[in-house]
Amino acid sequence: MKLNEKINDYEFQPEVYAYPTARCYKKLDGFSVAQLKFTDEINVYLHIPFCSQLCTFCGYLKTLNSETLRKEYISALIKEIKMYEEIIGDKKVISVNIGGGTPSLLQPNELGEIIDALKAANEGILNNAKEVSIEATPESVEYEKFKEFKDLGINRVSIGVESFVDKEIGVAGRHNDGQVSSNAVKTLKELRFRNVVCDLMIGIEDQTEKTFSDSLDTMIELDPDTVEVYALGVIPSTMIGKRHPKGLMGNREKYECYEIARKKFLEKGYFQSCHNRYSKLPEGGYLQEDTVFRGASLIGLGAGARSYAQNIHYRNPFEVLDGKGAISRYMNKINSGSFAVETGIFLSGDERMRRYAIGNIESLDLHKFSNLFGAEFSTVFKEVYSEMISTGCAYEAGSKLKLTAKGLLFRDLIARQLFSSRVEALEGPYRATV
Ligand code: SF4
Repeated sequence: MKLNEKINDYEFQPEVYAYPTARCYKKLDGFSVAQLKFTDEINVYLHIPFCSQLCTFCGYLKTLNSETLRKEYISALIKEIKMYEEIIGDKKVISVNIGGGTPSLLQPNELGEIIDALKAANEGILNNAKEVSIEATPESVEYEKFKEFKDLGINRVSIGVESFVDKEIGVAGRHNDGQVSSNAVKTLKELRFRNVVCDLMIGIEDQTEKTFSDSLDTMIELDPDTVEVYALGVIPSTMIGKRHPKGLMGNREKYECYEIARKKFLEKGYFQSCHNRYSKLPEGGYLQEDTVFRGASLIGLGAGARSYAQNIHYRNPFEVLDGKGAISRYMNKINSGSFAVETGIFLSGDERMRRYAIGNIESLDLHKFSNLFGAEFSTVFKEVYSEMISTGCAYEAGSKLKLTAKGLLFRDLIARQLFSSRVEALEGPYRATV
């Protein structure tokens, strides 16, 4: 189907935040670090897969928090950092992101051990990394603990608020309520983290345009530095996917929610730093995502973590429903002295070109593209290019091809048009349903 028809149909695509998507990774035999080609500036991601709740919509690797397992896991994670010591030590690390799961369940001394291991691998890591980030659930935000996190070098905290409406939060299987989320944002602002980031979701159970708009109003009143807005893609393997195989909120409504969010944030002095993020910070609110999109490498550590070398994307053991099983496979491998990589994909020259185009699609430098790949974007992707222009989704400004407001709204549909048939086929049945 053509882009124009997809737009007219309000076809929904879950956010394209990586290419090739992890859904098309296959078993990687014979993995060797010597094969990997990383950029000179790299990003580091560490996965902490423990949660105090299991949210119905969650598609991440996680398991219920247990102190014993957490300690064993941290010890394996530190071993894995050491295994990458040569690469991490040799590169300029521009961002560190501790995600999950709920990494804010870590005790400050545990976070300190992880940061010490990173410093042992790369002494200047905290001086060079402009962004040192941790993810948090609202109820895990405590003043004293986060004060210690800040002292350890954390400068960005990303809270998964998702909604301020108590009923929606409850149906999602979460333990907090809207007031707890508001208090968490206030606490982090009081502690003066450089970047307090909140996520809001579109399309969770029981949500309507009206209740989404109410959550937006509460968010705007709290005035975090950055807000990210995601439409839920219902993944078949999640609890919610099993309960609602046909999805929840209608696609048209999801797009309308995006537009409501855009209007409200722009009116309140935020700028749109990418298709689904609004920030008051000039650098845009999420350095790791931006630099990885633009092509910088990522080293992912921990169970389920993905790494993006220039030539191979690969992943440690990952499961959505059997997080404990994946964690155990990860720890067994690392404790036996081997890398834990299970799946991945080699990137051909064509896939690298597509990855670059997709990652930079919001503002694509056409000269740079042709210098890098020896071909014009408008020739290689002739049909997509002309449709982007004819639908009013993009325009040329100097050497840049830029998305318009409409293009940003349908950014994931456009990105999908740039997928290779190989990746489409490999993804097949694993896509989010709606
Ligand atoms: S959404 Fe976040 S808090 Fe909820 S289960 Fe998933 S990782 Fe844990």
